[in-house]
Amino acid sequence: MTSKHYSTDVVIVGAGPTGLFAVFECGMLKMKCHVIDSLAHIGGQLTALYPEKPIYDIPGYPMILAGDLVTHLEDQAKPFDPVYHLKQQVSDLKSLDDGRFEVTTAGGIVISCAAVIIAAGAGAFGPNKPPLEGLEAYEEKSVFYMVRRCGDFADKTVMIAGGGDSAVDWAISLSDVAKKIYFVHRRDKFRAAPESVDKLHKIAESGKVEMVIPYQLHGLRGEGGTLSAVELADLDGNKKILEVDALLPLFGIVPQLGALGDWGITIEQHHIPVDPATQQTNVAGVFAIGDVSTYPNKLKLILTGFSEGAMAAHAIHPRVFPDEELHFVYSTTQGVP
Ligand SMILES: Cc1cc2nc3c(=O)[nH]c(=O)nc-3n(C[C@H](O)[C@H](O)[C@H](O)COP(=O)(O)OP(=O)(O)OC[C@H]3O[C@@H](n4cnc5c(N)ncnc54)[C@H](O)[C@@H]3O)c2cc1C
Repeated sequence: MTSKHYSTDVVIVGAGPTGLFAVFECGMLKMKCHVIDSLAHIGGQLTALYPEKPIYDIPGYPMILAGDLVTHLEDQAKPFDPVYHLKQQVSDLKSLDDGRFEVTTAGGIVISCAAVIIAAGAGAFGPNKPPLEGLEAYEEKSVFYMVRRCGDFADKTVMIAGGGDSAVDWAISLSDVAKKIYFVHRRDKFRAAPESVDKLHKIAESGKVEMVIPYQLHGLRGEGGTLSAVELADLDGNKKILEVDALLPLFGIVPQLGALGDWGITIEQHHIPVDPATQQTNVAGVFAIGDVSTYPNKLKLILTGFSEGAMAAHAIHPRVFPDEELHFVYSTTQGVP
């Protein structure tokens, strides 16, 4: 694999809300950032798990949809020209002899930097994918592991597979916009809220949703990433082929701290202990913010992560600009580029 090399001030591992806001805070202190995320989209849990849910405890917003908050955070970071490396899992972090760091991704990206901010949440998120031949060719074209906008499925025949809250809730939501929904599950028991399952069965009575149970995904048919049909099989090997425009295999999203554990950073019960005043980990120059970091009385909230990003940025400044004194300035005085 050919690798691509970059050099920057700060590498942020994780493009969740706290990683995105850390770009802004570093930017205000004139530090450039590269942001790496294993997902194809920025926003972390907000994009992956609940983009259309309302959040009520973001200061200044009595209510904001999670997806809209991500858009605002992206806009707020934009003046500082962050470089995003998406669909890239950070696989290695090395301290170099000159005090800098080298961050490497599984996709062969190597970034040298003065400091690292780990904003990795519960770890690298990845969808739990069904074992289907040729699946990759359809991903992000007609096979999706998350719904970003209900409107993307307007007037389409959509197959949703899974038996948990996510599959059931999206089948209910999309039944308002889709032409038809096939709901595929391998058994007649669900791991979803009973009231949601009741609601889904009621919608199924109207014919907008067709329950295809007990079946499992067996194969994909189509060309050039455009799905035309999905093959299903039951436990006895009986097959069914249904014509669809899109498939949503919603078997959950699995977070894994994975390689973080091999970087020499102390990890306790899946979290990284930090100095709460600076967010620095046991490795000087490596900081952790957001859900992944821990200290006494830590509150795992988005607003906490925002503040931690600001503290980490200020603590990093002397590493990037050792000869400059940092004078605290309000954003109202400084403005943005
Ligand atoms: C349903 C639900 C509702 C919620 N409601 C609220 C609420 O109302 N208010 C509130 O404050 N909080 C709420 N939360 C919690 C909130 O979402 C989290 O606190 C927040 O997402 C943490 O942000 P983060 O940036 O630390 O991590 P995350 O959002 O988890 O993002 C971390 C990112 O890092 C990436 N990553 C991790 N490891 C690697 C690696 N090695 N390489 C590359 N990328 C990596 C992951 O893919 C992920 O995208 C809710 C959570 C859920 C699930």
